[in-house]
Amino acid sequence: MKEWTSQFNPFHSLKVLAWRDCFEAIMKGEIPAPVAVTLDSTNVCNLKCTFCHSYAFRKENQKTASKEDLLWVADILPDLGVKGCCYSGGGEPFLHPDSGIVMRRLKDNGIAVGTITNGTRIDKFMEDILYSCRWIGVSVDAANPDTYKELKGGDANEFYRVTTNLRTLARKRKDNRSPSIGFKYLFHPKSYHELHDAVRLAKSLGVDDFHARPCFGEGIMWEKQMIIDALESINVAQGMFEDENFHVYGVTHKFDETFHKKVLDKCEITPIAGLTFAADGYVYCCCDLRSEDQGRLCKWRDILDVWGSDKHKEVLKNIDPKKCPVRCTYAPYQEILEKVFREDRMTYNFP
Ligand code: SF4
Ligand code: SF4
Repeated sequence: MKEWTSQFNPFHSLKVLAWRDCFEAIMKGEIPAPVAVTLDSTNVCNLKCTFCHSYAFRKENQKTASKEDLLWVADILPDLGVKGCCYSGGGEPFLHPDSGIVMRRLKDNGIAVGTITNGTRIDKFMEDILYSCRWIGVSVDAANPDTYKELKGGDANEFYRVTTNLRTLARKRKDNRSPSIGFKYLFHPKSYHELHDAVRLAKSLGVDDFHARPCFGEGIMWEKQMIIDALESINVAQGMFEDENFHVYGVTHKFDETFHKKVLDKCEITPIAGLTFAADGYVYCCCDLRSEDQGRLCKWRDILDVWGSDKHKEVLKNIDPKKCPVRCTYAPYQEILEKVFREDRMTYNFP
């Protein structure tokens, strides 16, 4: 299966090769500045996706960060050496009424901003998104209102609100097509056969990317033939729908051939990509460890003191990947650390 037709794309994990200094610092036992962080505004969500990985912790932690705390983080990120911030959740970030102010502050502080949203509240922050964001990923995950209702719990009004929001956002962009817009499609055993309808819909809305990933987790069973059909249908969609302004990505390199996550033997890469300011008021080493004791680093306002400290080193040393939850977003980065930098399999000091 071809994941993409152009290797120069936002979903290619090898883009972190641009972070050479960070990988080399980790190999020396140092804790480099985090290149990108995640900032959660709220754990509350207005949808009920059957596959929601954050459901369990959100249920126990219906927390929302204060405007003051969010702006405090936006102001200290440059001091921490951060280059990019994903404004996200937790739950649905745009349920927070101060989302626009926070994203604008990040942008004005020189931080590149991206956001991941379910798209139902984009209309409330349209101008803020257009001003602040380098990219936006909208989790639509369905091609029609019926599947949307069945898998995400939103009614037809919500589905059409999301698609209208995407169309309006795409139309309001200037000639440079910024922010880039991704239609995210988490395909499920109940929806993978609708993938072409979803790609057709995404293209008609004027977005740039269709980002397909397999749904996995408790109770989701992929039969071998379903996997073959799903992968085939991504390649057919690339041939049918791609053009200069629209691309289809089937991101499967983060999973094994049965659509289960890859489990790492060790994890050293969270300092550069995983740092997450979660809505419960704590900072976690990895976005996939929100609410997990083994990933909890400190309270938000202690981060400048704790970053790089002995306490930080101790938390990182004690992370056991086998105890990590079902999702592991950054597994490919550990492989890059091992194979590119530690083993030098690409002879990376040569052209
Ligand atoms: S939109 Fe996201 S946070 Fe909300 S229920 Fe769905 S997967 Fe969970
Ligand atoms: S989920 Fe993956 S990237 Fe995150 S701490 Fe665990 S092993 Fe590391």
